[in-house]
Amino acid sequence: MAQKGALMKVGVVGLGYVGLVTAIVLANAGNTVIGVDIDNEKIANLKNRIVNIYEPGLEGAFNQAYDKINFSIDYASLKDTNLIYIIVSTPTKEGKILLDYVFDAIGSIKNSNDTATIVIKSTVVPGTARRVHERTGLEVVSNPEFIKEGNAIYDTIHPDRIIIGASNKKSLDLVENLWSFTKAPIVRTTNENAELIKYASNSFLATKISFINEIANLCEKIPNADIEVVAKGMGLDKRIGPYFLKAGIGYGGSCFLKDTRAFTNFARGLEEKLNIVEAAMKVNNDRINRIINLVKVEVDDKNIVVGVLGIAFKNNTNDMRESQALKLIKRMQEENFRVKAYDPVIKEVKGIEMVHSKEECIKTSNILIIATEWEEFKDIKTKKLIIDARRMLDMSKDNIIAIGVSGYNKKEEIL
Ligand code: NAD
Repeated sequence: MAQKGALMKVGVVGLGYVGLVTAIVLANAGNTVIGVDIDNEKIANLKNRIVNIYEPGLEGAFNQAYDKINFSIDYASLKDTNLIYIIVSTPTKEGKILLDYVFDAIGSIKNSNDTATIVIKSTVVPGTARRVHERTGLEVVSNPEFIKEGNAIYDTIHPDRIIIGASNKKSLDLVENLWSFTKAPIVRTTNENAELIKYASNSFLATKISFINEIANLCEKIPNADIEVVAKGMGLDKRIGPYFLKAGIGYGGSCFLKDTRAFTNFARGLEEKLNIVEAAMKVNNDRINRIINLVKVEVDDKNIVVGVLGIAFKNNTNDMRESQALKLIKRMQEENFRVKAYDPVIKEVKGIEMVHSKEECIKTSNILIIATEWEEFKDIKTKKLIIDARRMLDMSKDNIIAIGVSGYNKKEEIL
């Protein structure tokens, strides 16, 4: 095995949410990092110390790492590296994973360096690493990522586990050595298992969210029921655990939707239907309709203004990919509601009337919806009606409509 903790020269291809954080953390662990992206503007910004991603702790970590990362759009800069991470996007197209960015990146690497070991951190369907090896002859390691946006720096330094899939000991050793500073448990396995672990994990988490949202729907119909209490009682069981049991407007973001789509499509290709995951996807889709229906019940006049608090797909990030808040706004606009929106870090969104503060949003709207769980929404002061789609507020107040509670807010006091 390579000497534990020995430092390396590492390439990182794709400097988005995951790639940039990975590059920064590896550089701050003492490695020399070459960061490559095809986006000219992004590389020019990074060279000028401008980061367009909002993540707690990112700015400080970036400044610390800056001198140890060489940012470039030129793949030739990777010629002396022996380990190159692929962290480009893997979106879905018509429900199927699109691997073009991965194969483009690997093709470009191969032209400048045909001896490096490739490490795929992008989320890819099982069999992808082996296909890359067969096409290129390069050694390929699978090392999927599990960070949570909004906590990405911490999660990269303190992961719950590190999964490394490869077909030979030397490659497994190389990647294990690179991450040994994290002290996380390491699972060494095949490429296919590593690829599967990523999709199975995300599908399970998505299912957990949809499960609690479905029970939340039921709570709304049962006198004296409240999903918060039910989830707390469930989560104290160690076999269940408290995480991902928060009822809300459903999961969004760059991962769960595309990964469940890609995974179920992949399984169908093997003539296996992932019934549970497909049901979780359906439940998630229906969340927006339920919130819209709630608005319609409360508002029969479409001339009023609906104020939406939160645009990001979750708090502590400026990522709005597949944001449920954004989908909610678009759907309300389609239904001819006038919408104003506010988010603490997202200031401009095409086609949406944004306001500059939560106070302005409250003042200029007739009814409000909390769509993203930003901390600053906890102490909202208004007598206007608020649909609390994230269960953040004290629902004993008359103006709060809380999801997942009997009749929305008609809780009977339990002594
Ligand atoms: P992103 O869209 O933020 O970033 C991808 C970057 O890759 C972009 O900067 C793009 O310009 C660059 N790129 C595309 N093609 C390229 C090429 N041929 N050469 C060089 N650069 C290229 O994506 P992300 O959110 O960082 O996700 C990256 C991968 O990590 C995806 O597979 C995703 O599923 C996975 N992942 C994401 C998260 C997350 O929280 N965002 C968590 C775990 C795993």
